[in-house]
Amino acid sequence: MNAAVAVAVLAPGLALGSFLNVAALRLPTGRSTCLHCGHAIRVRDNVPLLSYLLLRGRCRDCDTRIGLRYPLTEALTAALAGACVLAFGVSLHALAATVFCAALVAISAADLEKRIVPNRIVLPATAVVLVLQEARAPSIEWPAAGLAASGFLLAAALLHPRGMGMGDVKLMLLIGVAVGRAVPIALLTALLLGLVPAVVLALRHGMQARKLAIPFAPFLAAGGLVALFAGHALLRWYLHLGG
Ligand SMILES: [Zn+2]
Repeated sequence: MNAAVAVAVLAPGLALGSFLNVAALRLPTGRSTCLHCGHAIRVRDNVPLLSYLLLRGRCRDCDTRIGLRYPLTEALTAALAGACVLAFGVSLHALAATVFCAALVAISAADLEKRIVPNRIVLPATAVVLVLQEARAPSIEWPAAGLAASGFLLAAALLHPRGMGMGDVKLMLLIGVAVGRAVPIALLTALLLGLVPAVVLALRHGMQARKLAIPFAPFLAAGGLVALFAGHALLRWYLHLGG
């Protein structure tokens, strides 16, 4: 049953991924245009994933290659929407998790491409996820986890202004609201994953590596996904080790 629904949410998942990525790029008219020639993309050419394949990744007007980021982020959003239904059933929990995942993908793409965590994605996503969380399981856990985790990153950002940015602080608020008490898993995973490129850069560029800012949102997003899908299992495992 859930598997069938998971397949059924792939199409709206693609649409959600497409919508959020346009929003993340801050296109002025709110609809898709070719970034090269400025032509509005026709409705029939704006079907997520499918149009990209039919046009072989080129603009119909100017033949410029369209970046792989669009089909990749759309497909990733759809796959995560399916995974949320498989993990949480047909529920408000799955809906909250899907909004969370879609926002993580759009924010990661924006940070990789433009080094920004777009307010117009992270703030509404946090509000929507908080409302859904409180509707499905009313608790202080969601806002408390969000404030604690973002407060932790705020302290880090103030101590090391070159590392973390305010965008990362806002992203952590979203992650805390979405995963609740599993938020330490998200932070720990992000820090562990973020260490790898930091070490590689340090080996390659020596002391200059300190000046190269690494976009950190994709690591926080990866941590958020681990916490969402495996956080409670990992917490239980860890507490058993201790007791
Ligand atoms: Zn074009």
